[in-house]
Amino acid sequence: MTFAPTVLTGPSGVGKGTILARVLEAYPQVWLSVSVTTRQPRPGEIDGTHYYFLSDVQFDDLLARNGLLEWATYGLARYGTPRRPVETKMAQGRAVVMELDLAGARQVRECLPGARFVFIAPPSWDDLEARLRSRATESEEAIQRRLAAARVELDAMDEFDQVIVNTEVAQATTELVNFLSLDSVLGCTKEKD
Ligand code: 5GP
Repeated sequence: MTFAPTVLTGPSGVGKGTILARVLEAYPQVWLSVSVTTRQPRPGEIDGTHYYFLSDVQFDDLLARNGLLEWATYGLARYGTPRRPVETKMAQGRAVVMELDLAGARQVRECLPGARFVFIAPPSWDDLEARLRSRATESEEAIQRRLAAARVELDAMDEFDQVIVNTEVAQATTELVNFLSLDSVLGCTKEKD
């Protein structure tokens, strides 16, 4: 059984990263694409682990070399998926997961037929706003930009194959594992990078 590449989308602050970290810990066979971005690292973020942090010139260069599978501007920064690693892991039959914004998900729908799309939603708007503010690493202006983007993303929820409401991380993680059929598809083989 082959694993369809899967895109995970949802508003900033909804907890996609936390859910994915749990899935990766329990299922090392899953390969999460590491994106490039022109935004500054947050405290604790490691270059090459959370993102590849690039200058605008480096991002332009990658784009010019057709090195990105998809890319989008989010807030004031650009984000993109390096093409080569995704193609290599797919060819190896790995369970490829990408965490992308709405624009990126829409591009993948065009360029990777067969991909599957999951949306992580907050239990409520107030909950999302509280989570975004509790991160406390960004200016009010940046938070407002993220909230505006969140409205647009929530309005597009219907485009996704599965919507998971992140009321509780453990439950949301289980729902994602079930959607990915990780226990049945990959339960027998433990592979690492
Ligand atoms: P953050 O700055 O919070 O890490 O990410 C901002 C938004 O960019 C999130 O919605 C995240 O899912 C999205 N994002 C992260 N990497 C990529 C990527 O490679 N491509 C696209 N299109 N969006 C991305």
